[in-house]
Order: sequence, then C-alpha cells, then structure tokens
Amino acid sequence: MTRILPHDDQHAFATRSVHAGQVVEPLAGAVMTPIYQTSTYVQDGLGRHRGYEYARTQNPTREALERNVASLEGGSHGLAFGSGLAALDALLKLLRSGDHVVCGDNVYGGTQRLMEQVYAGLGLRFTFVDMRDVKNVERALTPATRMVYCETPTNPMMNLVDLAAVGDLTQAHGYLFVVDNTFATPFFQRPLEYGADVVLHSTTKYLNGHSDMVGGLLVVSRDDLAERLGFIQNAAGGVPGPMDCWLALRGLKTLPLRMRQHDANGRRIAAWLAGRKDVPKVYYPGLPSHPQHDLAGRQMTGFGGMISIDLGEPDRARRMVEATKIFALAESLGGVESLIGHPATMTHAAVPVAMRQTMGLTDSLVRLSCGIEDADDLIQDLDRALAAP
Ligand SMILES: *Cc1c(COP(=O)(O)O)cnc(C)c1O
Repeated sequence: MTRILPHDDQHAFATRSVHAGQVVEPLAGAVMTPIYQTSTYVQDGLGRHRGYEYARTQNPTREALERNVASLEGGSHGLAFGSGLAALDALLKLLRSGDHVVCGDNVYGGTQRLMEQVYAGLGLRFTFVDMRDVKNVERALTPATRMVYCETPTNPMMNLVDLAAVGDLTQAHGYLFVVDNTFATPFFQRPLEYGADVVLHSTTKYLNGHSDMVGGLLVVSRDDLAERLGFIQNAAGGVPGPMDCWLALRGLKTLPLRMRQHDANGRRIAAWLAGRKDVPKVYYPGLPSHPQHDLAGRQMTGFGGMISIDLGEPDRARRMVEATKIFALAESLGGVESLIGHPATMTHAAVPVAMRQTMGLTDSLVRLSCGIEDADDLIQDLDRALAAP
C-alpha cells in the first residue's frame, strides 16, 4: 500500500494531522481510510497471510489512527485502546507486584480509582504528591519506584508540572515517565520532547473532539516499550473498534483548527471571568495571575478551553451549572460543544474527600470546557447563569 505521506516529521503539524499514518486504500484508492469492520482476514494459504490475521491483533483503521497520533506527539509508536482508562490499564500492566508509582495528586478521578481500587489490590503501590514542586516527587521516590505519572495541566485545578524538571529527574534514575496529555493535546504540548517515555490520551476528549466516541491511546518512542505494550494490547485485548478509530482519525484532521478556537475562546472567557468580583477564583494557565503562567509559556504553545472557577458557595455552583443554556451540564470535555460540570459530584466523586480538600477541589468549584461556539454567546450564557437566583 502506498503511503499518502510517509510517517516522518518533515511536514508541519497541520499537514500531519490530516495525512500522517494514512495509506491509499488498495482496492479502489479511497482517499479516506475505510472502516475495516471485520473480525478476521482471509489467508492466502497455510501460514501465508497479508500481515492481518485477527482484528484484536491488527486492524488497518486502528493502525492509521495509531500512526497519526504517534506522528503528532513526535513518537514512533502509537497503541490505541477502547478508552483512556483501558490505555492506563495496559500501561500499569508493565509493572509487577511490589513496584511503586509516584503519581500527581490531582489526576483524573478514574485514574486515581484504577490505581488505588484495582492495582493497589494486585500489589502495586502508589504515592500521590503535589507535582507542582519536583522536590515532592524526589521525596516520594523509593527503591521500588518504577514509574512517575502526571497530568499537566491537571484536571480540574489546572496545575502545571514542570515537564523538563521531571523529565531530567526520571531520565537520570531510569524511571518510566508518563504524561497524560489529554488536556493540552500535542498541538500545544509535546511531553516526549521533555523526556517523557509514554504519552497517554483519552481520545474521547480533544483528539476526537466531537463527543461521539470513547477511546484511549499511548504513544512511545522506545522500541522496547512499544513491543511490550503491543504484546499487552493484544494479550489483554482492550482494543477499540474500527468505527471509533475512524471517528477519532476524522476528528484529528481538524485538531489544529479546533484547538486554536478552543484556545481563543478559553483566553477570552477566562479574562472575562477574572474581571468579575463575584467569581473569587479563576484557574486558567493562560492568565498572567496563574501562579505557573511563566512555566505554561515555556512548555505550552497555547492553553486551550479548560477553565475552572471557584464560586465560594456550593449552592451558587449548583445554581450556575443548572442555569446555562449553551454550556451543557455533562461529564467529559474537549468537544466542539461547550460543557459545564461540577467536579466534586461528577468527574471527581471517586476521589476521597480529604484528598479533594487538600488540592482545593471544593464543592463550589465549577469546571468549564469551552467549545468552539461564538465567544460572545458563551460569555452571555455564563453571565446569565452567574446571576441565576
Ligand atoms: C477522561 C479522561 C481520562 C479517562 O479517559 P476515558 O476515555 O474516559 O477512559 C483520563 N485522563 C484525563 C485527563 C481525562 O480527562
């Protein structure tokens, strides 16, 4: 099969987002990667096949998606999964009973749940630390530490982790450094360039961008990791179906366009919120008032559409999330449509209360996923909802 575009880094991001990893379909020359909706492939003879035997192991639609995201992240291998958490599940299977993981204390609720309520029971050990300060990571290391795991920006507090600092530390000691890049996407931040070994995505969010599938992806640039994770992907079988891969691949073609608009809307709305006296706290790395704004400028090229605000009173938060008309009250984020959520009772309900409190995840916190609608309409919607009786 002829490649439309070789899987290399000679083309700019926007070109790769449309073309990378895709091949000309051999039967009719279809320009778009078909949905290979099949569980198996005919073999030419005993022991002779075309590289495809069974769809848990290989699927051309999935492979196109894996190559595309690997190219955007600047990695060499991508591995797609049925959800972001299935990707994390495969990743944790790299470890053995007794191994220790240092993890950011403000990660996606389901990430914390999988670690503490599933893998801790199988003998892995986890320490959750505030990774805004790399010294907290250093202090948490033990002789059994194998992995350092973070999100940046974090969900929902929008804290940043200094990728270069943690990258240096983990490379010096040989720890596996994993970054969940779901919030920033490779359009704004590429952790592999800072020493990360693995990038994790919930493709459900910005990469697909249209809130119409659930998926996950790992990107690596080390062959040994790609081989082991590929083995786990097939052995444990948490793979996505071809239709969902196709949707994600389609979404990725407009990733740069969408991210630019999410970012423009995010910046305008955050600045507008920061100017309101009745919004005590606005968390957005693009605001000069964000304590890590300089770091954001160093390791990110944009800030996206995720904003958290603390309204001070839980009841005001409840009234606001129930009053918006364009922002839909829903879990998830990163779609073209704006969403509003209440992390304490929705996305982060599984996080222990004490842990929520230390990180500032209060009952009056509201999270916004700013979509790509007209910014004035979005502001008007929030303005009305903030005044809700
Ligand atoms: C949603 C999300 C996940 C989990 O992904 P699923 O696709 O829902 O399994 C992991 N990390 C972050 C930052 C997320 O937002």
